[in-house]
Amino acid sequence: MTKQIEEVARLILTAQRIVIFAGAGLSTESGISDFRSPGGVWDRYDPEDFYYQNFLSSEASREKYWQMATEMYEPMKKAQPNLAHLAIAEMERLGKLDCVITQNIDGLHFKAGNSEDKVIQLHGTAMYVLCLNCNKKYDRDEVQERLRKGLKVPYCDVCGGPLKPATISFGQSMPEKETQEAYHRSSLSDLFIVIGSSLVVQPAASMPLVAKRNGAKLIIINREPTSYDDMADLVIHGQAGPIMASILKDVKKELDKP
Ligand SMILES: [Zn+2]
Repeated sequence: MTKQIEEVARLILTAQRIVIFAGAGLSTESGISDFRSPGGVWDRYDPEDFYYQNFLSSEASREKYWQMATEMYEPMKKAQPNLAHLAIAEMERLGKLDCVITQNIDGLHFKAGNSEDKVIQLHGTAMYVLCLNCNKKYDRDEVQERLRKGLKVPYCDVCGGPLKPATISFGQSMPEKETQEAYHRSSLSDLFIVIGSSLVVQPAASMPLVAKRNGAKLIIINREPTSYDDMADLVIHGQAGPIMASILKDVKKELDKP
């Protein structure tokens, strides 16, 4: 693996526009369980209740939604960035990051030190709450506090509209601005690094193709093989944290040379 790590470091050093594509694997290494995996929250809840349309139309669905969202939020709030998040934040400090396109909603890129304008959150964020009627933004902890005191479904102080975490639910369309920006940055990149994603969720999974078609080198770092491994320039199977830490160590060693 040492040879592959050195090769990725070399590519990072020579690239001008590096885009990182971060998947659920990055969060699981921080102890946040992938909600789609067995033993996840879906074993205890009915996914039907969580379709956006049901949230909009049914008070009972909203109540179940908030129960599940509360259960998922607690471990997320306590989670700390892992070595991979820290390496990505380090890339920004070194001027080696165009942006991170992330499928994660846990805000760990910011806890690691990435700035707001470097992170494109394709599936939104669990860190704040929006009124679905007037779009007023609420701090997530403030809303959770209302629930902790016994409220079942929170509503907007201003207009009475239903409040929902700013994440993208089933049946809710992808955020237009973020999706377009992600495709645009992918097409302009010269090095596209996938970290901790099996690249199955569309449309996000087509972004590596867009990058590759426009001439970028494609690197995949993931525990399991992906269906894109064959077209990648370099694939490393393993844990993202230690691998990214080794890569950044090599990058910094080169940058520090007089
Ligand atoms: Zn409102």
